[in-house]
Amino acid sequence: MMLQQIFDAINLGIVILDRDFRVRAWNRWMEIHSGIAYDEIKGNSIFDRFSHLNNPKFIRSCKSVFAFGNFCFFSQKLHHHLFPFKTTGYADTRFEHMQQSCAMGPLRDGDNEINHLFIYVQDMTEVATYEQKLMEMNLKDGLTGIYNRRFLDEKLNEEFNRHKRYGGVFSVVMLDIDHFKSINDTYGHQCGDFILKSLSSRTSSLIRNVDFMVRYGGEEFCCLLPETKMHDALKVAERFRVAIEQQENNYDGKIIKVTISLGVAEFRKEMESAYMMFKKADEALYRAKREGRNRVMEMDWPGAVLSLPEEEGVR
Ligand code: GH3
Ligand code: MG
Ligand code: MG
Repeated sequence: MMLQQIFDAINLGIVILDRDFRVRAWNRWMEIHSGIAYDEIKGNSIFDRFSHLNNPKFIRSCKSVFAFGNFCFFSQKLHHHLFPFKTTGYADTRFEHMQQSCAMGPLRDGDNEINHLFIYVQDMTEVATYEQKLMEMNLKDGLTGIYNRRFLDEKLNEEFNRHKRYGGVFSVVMLDIDHFKSINDTYGHQCGDFILKSLSSRTSSLIRNVDFMVRYGGEEFCCLLPETKMHDALKVAERFRVAIEQQENNYDGKIIKVTISLGVAEFRKEMESAYMMFKKADEALYRAKREGRNRVMEMDWPGAVLSLPEEEGVR
């Protein structure tokens, strides 16, 4: 009976099934996480309580264990879980269900015949949550929660190379807050951070879900617009400009308004690298600064759209 104590104390779920998929063992861990006592499930088909397991893949795995005595693995990365248990005990996980790594293998009886199989279930939620966080931290900005420069570099290269090969259009909009230093100097760094967050959520709310808003550095942002030509990218940039100019940021009871300057670049097949495209947007942005700020400028390139008619709203 010493083995029974291990069986119930171990931090793993253990289930034993017979050839008819009836439950022959169900340890304490399984009782706790499923809310089903062994007495309730013993002798019943596993499919009675877990009907989703009654699928060709699971049945094929069991049959091959019975027939060949092999092991089968269910990885958390591929399947997330075998048994849909709620995640409990992890305050900040985004997984609704416990992430599980599972395996099944044969149990041989005295005649060396396989009449039972065991399944063990390992809770991987903590590891998976941590892994997911690390991944996000790598690509997202801690302050604003939008994508970071590392992400932009990767994504821009990817888009650029694809367009270089297959043609098509896409654009980038670079933007920088005007006189941001004076916001920090006047209202404090905390207020500056608040403005950054509020600007990133406002601009993010104005883009399609195929576009990417990125915090490129301090108070510089970049928006990647797939399948968008200059004419339309200029409109998006102008929409940003107007939205930010009109936005009233309420910090500590004070209404603070800022403006932004923007530069727009469009992919051209003559461009040598993604960096060159990015640089074109940046140059346009600095022209917007020089010419008085709170405006949109397009890249300097032969055959550029230059200025749009007034009624289109692009200055
Ligand atoms: P310009 O119109 O020419 O862009 O003027 P500016 O003051 O915005 O430009 P500058 O590049 O001189 O200053 C940018 C300021 O942004 C300096 C820095 O203190 C501030 N900044 C950069 N990152 C952050 C941040 O994460 N939080 C806060 N609060 N301020 C930041
Ligand atoms: Mg600035
Ligand atoms: Mg700047």
